[in-house]
Amino acid sequence: MKLDRIIRKARTISERYCVTDGGKFDLGRIDPGDTGGLKAEDKPRAREALQSGVQALAALQDMLYAQDRWAVLLIFQAMDAAGKDSAIKHVMSGVNPQGCQVTSFKVPSAEELDHDYLWRCQKGLPERGRIGIFNRSYYEEVLVVRVHPELLERQKLPAGLVGRKIWEHRYEDIRNFERYLSRNGTLIRKFFLHVSKQEQKRRFLERLEKPEKNWKFSAADVKERDYWDDYMEAYEDMVRQTAAGHAPWYVVPADNKWFTRIVVSAVVIEALGSLDLKYPEAAKEKIAELVAARRALMAQK
Ligand code: ATP
Ligand code: MG
Repeated sequence: MKLDRIIRKARTISERYCVTDGGKFDLGRIDPGDTGGLKAEDKPRAREALQSGVQALAALQDMLYAQDRWAVLLIFQAMDAAGKDSAIKHVMSGVNPQGCQVTSFKVPSAEELDHDYLWRCQKGLPERGRIGIFNRSYYEEVLVVRVHPELLERQKLPAGLVGRKIWEHRYEDIRNFERYLSRNGTLIRKFFLHVSKQEQKRRFLERLEKPEKNWKFSAADVKERDYWDDYMEAYEDMVRQTAAGHAPWYVVPADNKWFTRIVVSAVVIEALGSLDLKYPEAAKEKIAELVAARRALMAQK
């Protein structure tokens, strides 16, 4: 399939899940089981489409790298077992590892807690020409920390700065940070992989039952399910407060992994396709240099 056609198709898919104006965003209206009208029997076709997507992405990334103007930041947020890792693995499987870097943000270390919360994220930002993937991000500061405000104590903030308005301030700072990045040539796309509580339970049970998945199981993750509704509220508020044209949220149905990957792949292709990427053209002097080099090489034995 031609690249242009794939980009057009990707745009149609990604638009359905895109939130650029969070004002009226209602998470309750998004069905985690949605498959965009595709059925289980369409899976093989979906797999083929994903494969063409992977190739298209590789071609676009090659130009992104060569052009060396834009940086691309992809942010992934989700409840546990929503499929962040596998979506990243599948969608990025064809790209040149040199042009792509993944940073996973875990519970902050003592050194990280000695700094403002954006510090550790800034260190992972992609250079021009590269795709940077954040597996979790500074958004944890308005998700897990909001659901468990006692975590704020570990952050060693001066007392006067931790007040009723702290979440409002964090949204504002995040909005400003993303505006700043976009004004400096970083294209931002944010994914919330939306899994249902029921499907999460099924995946946790699978982690318990299959020996090769045991390592992924954590009893703390099961406890965290008690806070499900608080998390959903925090996610909804996060999208409402931080969706923007230059930094949209994609709320991706995540109960069916094959469909999640299609949507994520479409969004990344659409994003790169929107950049008008081209290979840099060689300047006149450069062409003369190439011709001379060719002549010199041909003259050698
Ligand atoms: P997996 O799917 O393998 O479980 P994961 O992304 O959940 O991957 P974990 O090793 O479980 O990785 O660690 C992430 C944990 O760190 C999450 O529970 C997350 O909420 C927590 N975390 C991330 N950032 C922060 C933060 N700023 N403050 C407190 N907790 C955080
Ligand atoms: Mg985890």
